[in-house]
Amino acid sequence: MKPDVGLDLMTLRSQLEPKPRVGCLTGCAIQVITFLQAIWGPEQDFRLIMVVMSSLRAILQASPCRSLWRRFQIPTFMPARPCSLYTCTYKTRNRALHPLWESVDLVPVGERQSPINIRWRDSVFDPALKPLTVSYDPTTCLHVWNNGYSFLVEFEDSTDKSVIKGGPLEDNYRLKQFHFHWGAIDAWGSEHTVDSKCYPAELHLVHWNAVKFENFEDAALEEHGLAVIGVFLKLGKHHQELQKLVDTLPSIKHKDTLVEFGSFDPSCLMPACPDYWTYSGSLTTPPLSESVTWIIKKQPVEVDHDQLEQFRTLLFTSEGEKEKRMVDNFRPLQPLMNRTVRSSFRHDYVLNYKRNPSLQLAK
Ligand SMILES: [Zn+2]
Repeated sequence: MKPDVGLDLMTLRSQLEPKPRVGCLTGCAIQVITFLQAIWGPEQDFRLIMVVMSSLRAILQASPCRSLWRRFQIPTFMPARPCSLYTCTYKTRNRALHPLWESVDLVPVGERQSPINIRWRDSVFDPALKPLTVSYDPTTCLHVWNNGYSFLVEFEDSTDKSVIKGGPLEDNYRLKQFHFHWGAIDAWGSEHTVDSKCYPAELHLVHWNAVKFENFEDAALEEHGLAVIGVFLKLGKHHQELQKLVDTLPSIKHKDTLVEFGSFDPSCLMPACPDYWTYSGSLTTPPLSESVTWIIKKQPVEVDHDQLEQFRTLLFTSEGEKEKRMVDNFRPLQPLMNRTVRSSFRHDYVLNYKRNPSLQLAK
């Protein structure tokens, strides 16, 4: 049964992930503040400026001169975003921009951005990495929501009922939501890649550090704030547990629609193999904060083509708008820069290489 969507969305909008325009405003404000700092010196109280900027934004957005707002938020002197690597993800990317990325040039380029291509042979086995412990309470599951970029399954997170610990993490992290990224066709769709291999989709289970932070919103902006488990989806046999979720998708076809989804344990969407890679990275949607400890599962889970096709029936757009299919909702790969990807497992291929002399001869 569908709840009172309007009311729930008002609540949700105030609680949930940073919205695209927060990124626009922040980026623009940073530009102006940097400029004013250069003129006035760093001792000024720029909170006042932030208030002025917010007001100006609100006025421009509400006025008939929306084009003025667009010019206002995209300064022409900013360089193009230099973050895309030459990979399958980039080559096959749907170039039509989603509104989420309108302001992407304004986000300062960081050194720990996500997603990345994981080069198996460059990852470093770390014997100190503990096994990851996952403990989810199915009753904390709340609802499924089309947020206009993906669909999110959200969880009650006021207590430590659904948490992960261990692995590369020092604290307990609470489950906030999970969502997926996928492609227009099965040949691509994942955000991370392994040795440049794209998977058709990728699951992200998003957790926040409830030991160090008061709430998800604060944690999402700070180092060690979030831990995201990434699971690749590959084409194969029908996934029975995923189907329960897929069956709700017709109810949330349009942006900003939501349906209750009680009692679901997302650990059923994880592979049996405990092996993972881990590295320090960022959110893959604005504001792209470098707050995420990524835990990428080595083993993908299998789903069938029809289940992925159901993902593709969702829309980026609201009811009444010109329909735009929700596909290719992934961010292009980012440079690894000065980071190391650690693995919780020994590298089989290295061992094979040493054991198999013919491989050495071939080299
Ligand atoms: Zn994601």
